[in-house]
Amino acid sequence: MDLVTGDVLRRRMVEEQIRRRGIRDARVLSAMETVPRHLFLPKELRQRAYADEPLPIGEGQTISQPYIVAEMTAALRLSGTERVLEIGTGSGYQTAILARLCREVVTIERFESLSADARALLTTMDARNVTFVVGDGSLGSPGHAPFDRILSAAASPSVPAPWISQLSECGIIVLPVGGRYEQELTRVTRIGDRTETEAFGACRFVPLVGTHGFQR
Ligand code: SAH
Repeated sequence: MDLVTGDVLRRRMVEEQIRRRGIRDARVLSAMETVPRHLFLPKELRQRAYADEPLPIGEGQTISQPYIVAEMTAALRLSGTERVLEIGTGSGYQTAILARLCREVVTIERFESLSADARALLTTMDARNVTFVVGDGSLGSPGHAPFDRILSAAASPSVPAPWISQLSECGIIVLPVGGRYEQELTRVTRIGDRTETEAFGACRFVPLVGTHGFQR
């Protein structure tokens, strides 16, 4: 796919799949118009990069549908100053979007190969505010905490306790919560010692495999 075609398809993706479905956060829309999503896919799937669907990225994992990326990112309410923990680097697409919208991203992936590919690609895009970690993201990243925001692209039966303890006051966590095959997009907002939980739609994500997620 050449750059001009990518631009046109991306603008159409944002208009038809994202803005039309109600996402109005201008910074999120602009990031999604800018990041070349096709480069995050295996070559043979690049022509489908701007379609309204999730796609396989290797290791049995998937890149989320564009709308879901936009919806979860908007739910984080980023102003640009935040430190964000991302669980499930995968292709690095969501990481690239976050890197444009906040101060610093720490991103954790359990598959070394996915993390290495994402790191190489993001380096070519000059994303300097991203730290890549390989390991069990259900434990968070105690050495980098506290975080203003936590975003997980892997589904968990409940909100992992370490994430709440690594969240700053007034922090926000967005993740899919539920069973292995069906979940609810969920936003947890910390207000001092209290947390508020809102569900905002059904979804289907790959499982968070780890100590505070699913066992395998
Ligand atoms: N945001 C990614 C989506 C990847 S799918 C993208 O834009 O491409 C979710 C990812 O979470 C998968 O790559 C999976 O390997 C990873 N994952 C699952 N459990 C994990 C865990 N405990 N720690 C870190 N990563 C995990």
